[in-house]
Formats: sequence, structure tokens, C-alpha cells
Amino acid sequence: MRPDRYDSGMPSVHRVAPERPDASVQDEGFLRAVAGGEVRLTREQGLAMLAGVPTHVLGRWADARCRTIHGDAVRTYIIDRNINYTNVCNAKCTFCAFRRDAGDHDAYTLEYEQILEKVGELVAIGGTQILMQGGMNPDLPLDWYLGLLRAIKQRHPKVHVHAFSPPEFVEFVHFFDPPGSTFEEKVRWVMVRLREAGMDSLPGGGGEIFADPVRRKIGLGKCDATSWLTVMYVAHSLGMFTSATMMFGHIEGHADRIHHMDLVRQWQDRALREAGEHGTATPGVRGGGFGHYKAFISWPFQRENTPLGRVRDWGASADELTKRFPGDVVADAFAWGANPEVDYRDLGPDAAEFGRRVRMSGAVDYLRTQAVSRLYLDNVYSIGSSWVTMGPHIGQLGLRYGANDMGSVMMEENVVSSAGTTYCLDEAVLCRLIRESGFTPAQRDNTYDLLRVHAGEEAPDRRVTDWSTHRAKKTHQQAPRQKTRLTVSAKA
Ligand code: SF4
Repeated sequence: MRPDRYDSGMPSVHRVAPERPDASVQDEGFLRAVAGGEVRLTREQGLAMLAGVPTHVLGRWADARCRTIHGDAVRTYIIDRNINYTNVCNAKCTFCAFRRDAGDHDAYTLEYEQILEKVGELVAIGGTQILMQGGMNPDLPLDWYLGLLRAIKQRHPKVHVHAFSPPEFVEFVHFFDPPGSTFEEKVRWVMVRLREAGMDSLPGGGGEIFADPVRRKIGLGKCDATSWLTVMYVAHSLGMFTSATMMFGHIEGHADRIHHMDLVRQWQDRALREAGEHGTATPGVRGGGFGHYKAFISWPFQRENTPLGRVRDWGASADELTKRFPGDVVADAFAWGANPEVDYRDLGPDAAEFGRRVRMSGAVDYLRTQAVSRLYLDNVYSIGSSWVTMGPHIGQLGLRYGANDMGSVMMEENVVSSAGTTYCLDEAVLCRLIRESGFTPAQRDNTYDLLRVHAGEEAPDRRVTDWSTHRAKKTHQQAPRQKTRLTVSAKA
């Protein structure tokens, strides 16, 4: 079923709403116009919102914006499965507890058969998509990926393969040395082949924070923002629908979060403009037309077992609290990307601890950031609530702070759970969380088409007769993994 809501979210002719730079974000009339999609926030207004608008007000208007796009009735989820095919990675992101060197005793690369088994388990519970990402493993040739994709599609032709984030593609270009005179051409060469073999779309992993000063500190060996965005542009030009992500609540300043959202919004404008010129791709149909970002999902940094997590918290001493957070000082000097080579050592004593203090996010900061993302990203259809890291009840609250989608029933999670507690829920619990928030739960596919709207008595949550037992059995927390507890499997 293709709901009308899809069309209202992405009009066929892309029109950018006008800005009103002089308007105050405290002005209710202005906020109402933003919620109605009549006005677009400027970067300064986005930052002012994040910094100063009361949390309940942000929630109210983000919810109103969400209802303008998605209506009042239905909120969605997907049944998919994370498959992390290898943990061998040549990058050394300081926020990552998942990566291993090839020689580590617990390094792994899954065999095809292990991956196919996981896909089979997903299909058995009615799942429609796999989210397949790995470390950036220099030992795996292009043929390994092509063979894997063909094997998945041969055995499970209907499963949507949402695979390989932009940083993996950037490394594919380094590893495979494809033909082409520009980076974009090389990415296209690889992507076309992976697509022909069975890849359907790209996940938005590895976005983290786009600002160069932050990225250089936390994403050691990982691609820069322009490469990330270019990979996604190539995917859109091939008619694919993708997502964008942001991981915040570490060393970044608040302006970095808005800068990040702004880059997504700018490149989305470009993709939608080109779709207007060349035709929009048909969701679920391969080939022809332009794709775009379907969704934006953000979540706070999880610190356990990570080098970045050992960095001292900001505000541990009273003296520190009289100063500005170093990330804010550097973000302001970075000036929305206008000074890409900004060197924090030139910025005076308030910036001296940049990268050596973290400002972790709690539930309120998470909900505020998500609400601002809903209001700022006026050209992105879906905002996902991150219950996997925030827990089911904050995830549920996220549906009142601008999110329309609860993401996935979680069968398995390896990357975030290596760095902090994550939560696993089954479909009935996820449906109940959505219903308790005041909406009808609906299972969706990768393109946000509704597969099953659970309005009747046959809904997964309504078939449960004993919630106290079901909750205890089907909701659990996945504790941070220690190095020795990772599954070891044969290397391909
Ligand atoms: S976050 Fe990804 S790219 Fe970075 S070290 Fe971990 S596995 Fe590698």
C-alpha cells in the first residue's frame, strides 16, 4: 500500500520555503509557520532553538511539524536485522568499541553461510530488510561483496539489502582502485556493481558529526564530510533512497549539530532539485530517476569500552563551569564550515581542552536535539526515534518530540552494544509502545510504504494476554560487550 502521506512528505516539485531571518524563535506565530512548513529555519535560528527554547515548547512544535507531514494516526516501525559482517577495520574511531585489527584473537569475518542463516532467521519472523555494515576490512576483495550479495538475493530475493555506509564506500575506492578520473566516478563504478549484485540502498552510518575539527579528532582514518555526502549523492543519482545519521553528545559544540543538519538539508535540496529535473525514482523499483534521503536518525554517543569514553566529563570541577565548553568555542570559530582549517590551539584558553572533555547527552538533550532536527530538516520525510540507545520509554517519548518512526525490532546489535547498553524488543512490545503513545502502530518497509496497519484485534500487541510475562521475556538490555565476549568466527 502506498499511503498519501508519502506524497505529502515529498512533493514532486521541490519548493524551498522562504526564510525569515529576523524572526525570533520565541515567537509563537513564527514557530507555527515553521511547523506548517511555510517557513524554513536559518542556521542561527536552529542554534537559538537548541540553546534556548524550553524543552516542552520544542516538543510541542516538533510534534506539530511531524503531524503536518505524517498525520495524527499512524507511527511506524520496521522489522529488520543488523548484520555486521566483519569487525576488522582499518580506521580507529575513538568512539568505537567494535573494531578489531586483523590479528586480534576476536577479529572475525562472517562466512556467507552464517550471514545467510541470519537472513533466514529474519525472514522467519516476517522481516523485510537487512542492515549490513562492517568495519573497513582491507582483506576483502570486491568479489567477496559481489558473491555475498548474489547469494543473499538468490536465497532471499524479497529481502531489501540496506548495506555499506559511505565510509565503507570510500575505503572500497582505496581497496579496489576502480577506474575513473574523479572520486565520484570511482564511487559510481563500485556502487553500480554492488547494486547489480543485489544492494538496494545505503544506510547513513558514519555520519557522526560532519564538522572537520571534530571529525579529525574522533574519526581517525574515517572519511571527511564531503566524501560522505558525495557517496550519498552518487547513491541518489542512481535512484536509491538513503538515510542520514548524527552521533552527538561528545566533544562537539551545539553549532556543530546544526551545521551537520544543515549539510544534510543542503544536499537534500540538491537531490530533490535534480529529481525535479530528471524524475524521482520510484520507491522499490530499480533504475531511473533520482533518490534522496528518506530519514534522519540521531543518537547520543555511548561511551563504555571506547577511548573517547575515558575522556573526562566537562564540568567535573566548579572552575570549569565558569568557562564555555571547548567544543562550543571551536564550533563557533569553525563558523558553519567557513574556516575548515580552524586550529583550536589559536583560539585562546577556553578552547585549550577541545577534544579532552566530553559533554555527554542525557534524555533531555537527546529529545531537544531530535525535536530541532524535525523542525530544521523540512525536506526530510522521516525522523527516527532512537530507542535502541535511549531505552524504550525515551524512544516512546521521542514520538512526541518529532519522530514518526520507531526504527527496528532489534534481533541483534553489535556496534552500539560494544560501547554501551542497548535494548532489544520484539514486535509486540514495539507496537504497544507506539499505541501507548497515542498512535496506531504500522509495519513499514524501507521506503516507508505501510505493510500492515495494526488497528484491529489481530495486532501483535493485542494478541498478548499476559503482559507482565511477555515484557519480562521479550524486553531485555544488552550489556556492553567486553573484548573477550565477542563472537569469534572463521575468516572468509
Ligand atoms: S566506527 Fe566503524 S569505521 Fe570507525 S573504527 Fe569503528 S568500525 Fe571502523
